[in-house]
Amino acid sequence: MAQIRLLYRLQEIDSEIRAKKQRLGEVIRLQKEDQALQKARQERDAAAQQRDKWQKERKRLELEIADLDSKSKNASNRLYSGSVKNPKELTDLQQQIEAMGRHRTTLEDHLLETMLELEEAETGFAAAQTQWQQVEAAWERQHTGLLQEQDQLALALHKLMTQRPDMAKLIKPDILTHYEQLSKKLGGVAVTMVQYNLCSVCRVSISAQKIKTAQEGTLVYCGSCGRILYAP
Ligand SMILES: [Zn+2]
Repeated sequence: MAQIRLLYRLQEIDSEIRAKKQRLGEVIRLQKEDQALQKARQERDAAAQQRDKWQKERKRLELEIADLDSKSKNASNRLYSGSVKNPKELTDLQQQIEAMGRHRTTLEDHLLETMLELEEAETGFAAAQTQWQQVEAAWERQHTGLLQEQDQLALALHKLMTQRPDMAKLIKPDILTHYEQLSKKLGGVAVTMVQYNLCSVCRVSISAQKIKTAQEGTLVYCGSCGRILYAP
């Protein structure tokens, strides 16, 4: 195979390697950065915290009311037991029971407010949970697709990178070095194909003489972009 043709084939492999590496980077990045999922999870966690807060408050109030009821019951028992005879002590007991009754009303009001807050928080949590599940399911589907693509890219890259040295071996070392330097200088494209007498990269016309020289296997360059002409 003529050297220029080999160079062109090598360039195709190099371009493919470059494109696949770039896509692989993207695919890996896409799997990490999922802001929608993060946001949905944060919102669900915040809603759960809110719900837990009101659940705790309800429990605390219920316990406080139960404790108050028990104290009030004891005081009533003492008041009506007949064992307390001292009028001052009886009045004190009565006042305590009344005070406890007033305190109970306040606690009941708080409990009612808390129940309403809790109901709202539970609704909020259910909505946030559903939203998170939906976003997560969508992400899972996408993630599965990305993982498959990642595997395919890795396989393809492995194959290409095995092919490259085999191809490079067929090219004369000085021509290969020249190609690699030119490729670095010209954005990865050192060889340009001549199509309809035009350089396929910069679209300037190439003289028949140059095309003939290229076809004979001599390195000849596009006068405009400086790339090696490949005239199949
Ligand atoms: Zn050109």
